[in-house]
Order: sequence, then C-alpha cells, then structure tokens
Amino acid sequence: MHEFSITQNLLEIALRHAEKAGAHHITRLNLVVGELSSVIDESVQFYWDIVARDTLAEGSELCFERVPGSLRCLGCSNVFSLNGRDYACPACGENQVVVAGGDEFRLESIEVE
Ligand SMILES: [Zn+2]
Repeated sequence: MHEFSITQNLLEIALRHAEKAGAHHITRLNLVVGELSSVIDESVQFYWDIVARDTLAEGSELCFERVPGSLRCLGCSNVFSLNGRDYACPACGENQVVVAGGDEFRLESIEVE
C-alpha cells in the first residue's frame, strides 16, 4: 500500500500545479525515481489509473526517469555509485555504507493543455 499513498500525494501536487496554470487537462507527469527507492513503477501506474479517474489528470501518461543509487563509505567517506548488489566500498573494502543519493521519488514536471 506504500505506492497508493505516494500516488495520491502525486495527484494532489499535479492538480495543484495544473489549476494554478489554468490547465484543462494534464497529459503527462515526469517522475524521477531513485534506483534505491522502494517505489515500483508498475504499482504507481496501477494506482494512478484509479486515483486520476474523474480528475484533470485522467488518462495522463506517467514517465519514469531512473537515477542511479550512490553510497557513502563510513570507513573512508568515499562516495561511489551502486554496482549491482555489491555494497562494499571500492576504495577500502569496507561494507558499512549509507545511502548518499538515488533514494528519491519526486515529480519533476507536468505537461498540461
Ligand atoms: Zn571506504
């Protein structure tokens, strides 16, 4: 149900922007999804078709742009991009790492008419 609340949130933001722009219809939403976020595109798309019904966003297209994940080593502070399932630091081999980027999910822009 994680994606359901995300999708509702998304709709609220999109509608607010569309109304401010005086749009009649939202045609497309451009989303940025970090590789490390737990958001599943297909689930968002599924819920989107439900929540967007009978709103300005009905029938709009969701466009997902994936951004790579990056990690920071707690041993040497090296920041490196995630390479498959290998979480170990390439500089020192430490595997105590934290997420430095790529865990976001945000609405980049909307297209209206
Ligand atoms: Zn390191």
